[in-house]
Amino acid sequence: MKQRFNEAFKLLNISPEMYDILMVPRKQVVVGLPVTMDDGSVKVFEGIRVVHSTILGPSKGGIRFDPDVNMDEVKALAAWMTWKCAVVDIPYGGAKGGIRCNPREMSTGEIERLMRAYTGAMLDVFGPDRDIPAPDMGTSEREMAWLMDEYSKSYGMTVNAVVTGKPLVLGGSLGRKEATGRGVMTASISAMEKLRINPYRATAAVQGFGNVGSHAAALLQERGVKVLGISDVTGAYYNENGIDILKAMQYRDQHKGLLEGFSEATKITNEELLTLSVDLLVPAAKEDVITDDNAGGIQAKLIVEGANGPTSASADEIINEKGILVVPDILANAGGVTVSYFEWVQNRIGYKWTLDRINRRSDRIMKDAFDRVYNTSQEYKVPMRIAAYMVAMKKVADTYKFRGGY
Ligand code: NAD
Repeated sequence: MKQRFNEAFKLLNISPEMYDILMVPRKQVVVGLPVTMDDGSVKVFEGIRVVHSTILGPSKGGIRFDPDVNMDEVKALAAWMTWKCAVVDIPYGGAKGGIRCNPREMSTGEIERLMRAYTGAMLDVFGPDRDIPAPDMGTSEREMAWLMDEYSKSYGMTVNAVVTGKPLVLGGSLGRKEATGRGVMTASISAMEKLRINPYRATAAVQGFGNVGSHAAALLQERGVKVLGISDVTGAYYNENGIDILKAMQYRDQHKGLLEGFSEATKITNEELLTLSVDLLVPAAKEDVITDDNAGGIQAKLIVEGANGPTSASADEIINEKGILVVPDILANAGGVTVSYFEWVQNRIGYKWTLDRINRRSDRIMKDAFDRVYNTSQEYKVPMRIAAYMVAMKKVADTYKFRGGY
């Protein structure tokens, strides 16, 4: 994050003192959370919330439950959220939170008590006009429902706009599940237009077949793109005639969420998937999968980053030299936070939008953001990744000038 931030900062004609204003988080909160475990013992967990910026509006960002949660990581992820919201022009700053715990080794009751304890400790941080959490690694709509309930109890009224990613019945939004994959599709089609690639003649490989990857693959297929390869933790699956994505999703859902044994394709390795001869590569699994070891072998003309940070900073140079167009993560996977924003808007006006309205509006936001970043990359002759940071940082810096400081 910092490396790319520095590069973009140098290109922007803004005063050097803006560096710290943009970079230093506004608030870092660490709490100890005593929780009674099922065996009667009490364990104290560490919870973190970092509000990186509130210049554009209330801060927004997920909560992760993971044994590796630490302040440095949460700080970087919070900053990432600031740039992601700014690049798609939604009125939020960035935040992130986490609890150092291993939810896989905890009972449902223990997880619920932990989530409620965290919410109680963060009552003066969270708020529909202050800081709005969402799910992240290790948390889901279930935890968001507990958060909403605990926060609401403390205020003596239902406050569903305090958190997004809630179950539909509690004010969750239609379209949220597919939103990130849909944004990846919109970004891919917009990029294909610039590269003069006809989607009906295009081929793709998608790494990761979870929420983002599978929806992106299905929607790309719907737009005519032939998806030759997909993958998950069990390996990669290739069919030169194209894979029926809906069938693969059905198979995955019937097999504990995994593609292992999917017989309508040949099994290859995840490494081979990345270097397939396709037009479009969508890394949608995890961070640092494209490195200087494999970047040289990538044959795709276009990479659209569904995952956060799938390309290591050192691989950027190789990819740029090869002339591959990269739609960077902070732009490509912003469809999710966009529909989270719609969830918050719907909660605040007390009205439910149709799926059609949500899709139309999120497509327009993604397309406009793509064009802004693409045009900046052309104007400054920089890769889209740096252009995305420039667009985002300029927006926050310009807004700060109007709001002012002390
Ligand atoms: P997920 O857990 O639903 O799916 C992850 C997928 O990646 C699974 O199919 C898993 O088997 C696969 N995978 C894991 N390790 C792999 C490996 N080494 N090689 C190949 N496949 C592997 O997660 P998700 O919600 O789809 O998120 C994927 C990425 O997108 C993450 O980087 C996440 O931070 C990012 N992201 C998600 C959202 C969202 O709305 N879900 C929004 C923005 C960014």
